[in-house]
Amino acid sequence: MHCHLDLYPDPAKVAAECRKRGIYVLSVTTTPSAWHGTNKLALGNEKIRTALGLHPQLAHHRSHEVELFNAFISEAKYVGEIGLDGSKEFKDHWKIQLKVFRQVLKSINNAGGRIMTIHSRSSAEAVLDELEGALGVPILHWFTGSRSELKRAVDMGCWFSVGPAMLSTKKGADLLSLIPRHRVLTETDGPFAKFNGKTLNPWDCEAAVEQLANLWAIPKEDVCHMVKTNLKNLVATSSSDH
Ligand code: MN
Repeated sequence: MHCHLDLYPDPAKVAAECRKRGIYVLSVTTTPSAWHGTNKLALGNEKIRTALGLHPQLAHHRSHEVELFNAFISEAKYVGEIGLDGSKEFKDHWKIQLKVFRQVLKSINNAGGRIMTIHSRSSAEAVLDELEGALGVPILHWFTGSRSELKRAVDMGCWFSVGPAMLSTKKGADLLSLIPRHRVLTETDGPFAKFNGKTLNPWDCEAAVEQLANLWAIPKEDVCHMVKTNLKNLVATSSSDH
């Protein structure tokens, strides 16, 4: 549910390998200007879907691209990566991040809602505040907030995408135990995320499946079935939304 196909050194090669393996991929973008080029990577492969995004870490450079976001939203079934980042390196740009996030959510609202993959690093509370009453289905990707923030997100109807980097930490495993299993999806966040020192590829979701099997103490096949059913339900829920 969350990888940056366009940011691998050889995106076409990674896309071809995804096709060969027959995996479902949500290919997220960090700027609206990347939308058309990244969409091309999915040409002829129904299993790769592209998401229209404006990453909070780029908001201060790309706030003018909100216009492009508005222009492309009608073509996009999925949105991301969007959100807020309150960590040390980016909190100086908080005001512009918040402005961009609000504009983007407004655009999504006007379009009738979308499935959204959301960044909430050091900003979970503010992200949830902004999502209150927003149309669409939010998926919190690689959630690192507190237990109480996670509970609030669950109550608000948020979904969660979890990957090898998150599940290998004690905190990640603890947070997972609080998420209803029917709201869990897998991700890698490659090429940004690493696991065991290696950059994750989209098909390394398999490692997340293994971790989920261990943490939930159920067979891997059951995890696969559950995650696939969850994906189907997510897509069905959102299409009945609008
Ligand atoms: Mn990401």
